[in-house]
Amino acid sequence: MVTVEVNHLNKNFGKLRVLNDINLKINNGELFVVIGPSGSGKSTLLRIIAGLESPDSGNVLFDGVDVTTIPPNKRGIGMVFQDYAIWPHMNVEQNIKFVIKNKKPEEEEEILKDVLETVGLLSKRKNRPSELSGGELQRVAIARALAVKPRLFLMDEPLSNLDEKIRKELLVEILDIVKENNLTTLFVTHSQEEAFEIGDKIAVINKGVIEQMGMSDELINTPYSSFVAKFIGDNLVLDGKLIDMKGEVVTIELDNLGIVKVIPKNRPDLNEGESILLIVRMNDLKISDENPNNSFKVKIISRKIIKDKVKAYFETPNLIRIGLEINSTWKGKNGEWSFLEIPDYKSFIFKK
Ligand code: ADP
Ligand code: MG
Repeated sequence: MVTVEVNHLNKNFGKLRVLNDINLKINNGELFVVIGPSGSGKSTLLRIIAGLESPDSGNVLFDGVDVTTIPPNKRGIGMVFQDYAIWPHMNVEQNIKFVIKNKKPEEEEEILKDVLETVGLLSKRKNRPSELSGGELQRVAIARALAVKPRLFLMDEPLSNLDEKIRKELLVEILDIVKENNLTTLFVTHSQEEAFEIGDKIAVINKGVIEQMGMSDELINTPYSSFVAKFIGDNLVLDGKLIDMKGEVVTIELDNLGIVKVIPKNRPDLNEGESILLIVRMNDLKISDENPNNSFKVKIISRKIIKDKVKAYFETPNLIRIGLEINSTWKGKNGEWSFLEIPDYKSFIFKK
């Protein structure tokens, strides 16, 4: 397998800056995830690492060797894309054999069997693509990528076209395949669920800039920027103005929601009077019948029992809607007012 290094990579399309000084390292056997919203530059980054696109500046190293100008077919990579890219006029085994080069027929058969077995499609080797489901087509694509015995496995949103059940199954299988074969892997996605489930390391990209790189718990517990804090997890984001910071306690005047005193988890450099964002993970909000200093007022607008939980919707006076899953012993009723508490060390504040 290979170690990948990307140094000071820049890429523009016309006037659009798509990648801005990207630096990263993927260790041997690591499953590295790049996550970001649509248009953030994920595919362009993957395509440059694959050699399908050239950067304006910066370089890509495989095991310390500069491969920036080496064509894709000489880089030893296997690739899987969102749209499967299976050749429709060839059956499963022809699709795979097509990429196996310079092997004797017995060796070719051995590789074919091996990769089909890995993805569980040995019995469908003669099927045509039109006879396969989306999940099976993507398995063929994975088998085909593995058939070249890649040093680096690249996947660009491989599960985005699949329905939820298949997506979950295939995600686990991909993780198994990658780990069993000790494949150095770059996996690009916009889905946190996928990123957190399989990523050894995760880079969050926004507008061509890597905002933060780390393990999932680092991204959740210590986001460096409001973008990362908002993008990761299911969050309530409130606008407000900083009144003061005394010791650990931060007093904020929330827009239309009054004053709260919170102890955030982070402590950025902020000035009194500055516009800020207060970000709280939805799961961390607590319902309270009283009106503690660290809470704001909400009206209960619906409650539904789902399994052993209550799913309740609340609305703030300025009509922000908040859905929470609550313990079924909670007695709140529609139309009543309640308070949502922001527990200590559970919120984040950032300059707006
Ligand atoms: P992502 O994969 O994160 O959705 P992309 O890397 O595909 O993002 O695209 C990043 C930006 O670059 C988008 O604004 C996209 O429209 C633009 N872009 C991508 N490829 C090209 C291209 N070949 N020519 C012009 N603009 C492009
Ligand atoms: Mg993309």
